[in-house]
Amino acid sequence: EPRVFSGIQPTGIPHLGNYLGALQSWVHLQERYHTVLYSIVDLHSITVPQDPGTLRQSVLDMAACLLACGISPAQSCIFQQSQVAEHAELAWILSCLTSMPRLRHLPQWKVKSQRQNNEGSVGLFTYPVLQAADILLYRATHVPVGDDQVQHLELTQDTARLFNRLYGDFFPIPKAIMGTSKKIRSLRDPSSKMSKSDPHKLATVRLTDSPEEIVMKFRKAVTDFTSEVTYDPEGRPGVSNLVAIHSAVTGLSAEEIVGRSRGMETAQYKLAVAEAVIQKLRPIREEMHRLQKDRGYLQGVLRQGAQRAKEMAAPVYDSVCRLVGFR
Ligand code: ATP
Ligand code: MG
Repeated sequence: EPRVFSGIQPTGIPHLGNYLGALQSWVHLQERYHTVLYSIVDLHSITVPQDPGTLRQSVLDMAACLLACGISPAQSCIFQQSQVAEHAELAWILSCLTSMPRLRHLPQWKVKSQRQNNEGSVGLFTYPVLQAADILLYRATHVPVGDDQVQHLELTQDTARLFNRLYGDFFPIPKAIMGTSKKIRSLRDPSSKMSKSDPHKLATVRLTDSPEEIVMKFRKAVTDFTSEVTYDPEGRPGVSNLVAIHSAVTGLSAEEIVGRSRGMETAQYKLAVAEAVIQKLRPIREEMHRLQKDRGYLQGVLRQGAQRAKEMAAPVYDSVCRLVGFR
């Protein structure tokens, strides 16, 4: 029986990259699959320092955001990772199957430990192992992820294969499902991806940004010295990122976008992209503001989600314990 699992960190309001790379496909998948789990992965979020009050609020904001994007608690199990203790328990077992060199070259570790003067925590280093546990704990078969998570998912696949070889065929090997767009890049630095935890305020367009903020961020987006719209991600990453965003929010191909923008100066084009983004995000933003006022409802959704997730996780973890020799 196919099962879908994915997660998002409560590290702030999601941005366009999260939406186009992941959340949008999450909505479609709940129509196509019977069992779908979406986790607000708070255990992952503390791999970098978090303020407790902010974290508590971010979990509720994320729940509101998932619902506002169209994820339905009737079709999907929406839950907070830390409420299902088996995630951390399985992660321990899997960490004993994973070698240090296997983790050292993964992109997340490099980027986020650099932000902390190369003094990242042990948790940040082993984060992909917890991610493997998240997926395998539900014996998930399909994992919708953005471009930036492909290498992490490969680790999950390797870990599942190794476990199966050592202890008997137990975990399905999960497949990646990619979002509608490739990696969306930072508006300030097209060499890095758009990230919730990017300290630069103008780098990300959040799903709750006002039209004025969106215009301002696109106006200040870093491009290059050629004032012409072309799509060349290698040579012109800044402008090409704008085209990629424009293409993803309108459904037109990059070629069509470039064709229609012939003769436009970059400054003018930025406003056209901003306008398309504003249209796309308007309903999400409005619904999000409505839901944020109803904390009781959000807490109820998370409580029920955690209960269902726990019911699925417990028997899998119990089998793992038997296979490993704990029972
Ligand atoms: P953080 O900076 O806290 O890691 P993030 O923006 O990277 O936040 P995550 O919660 O780590 O977001 O990831 C949630 C989902 O969004 C994942 O499936 C990830 O692949 C996807 N995603 C994140 N950033 C991008 C991006 N720039 N483009 C496309 N998909 C993305
Ligand atoms: Mg991330």
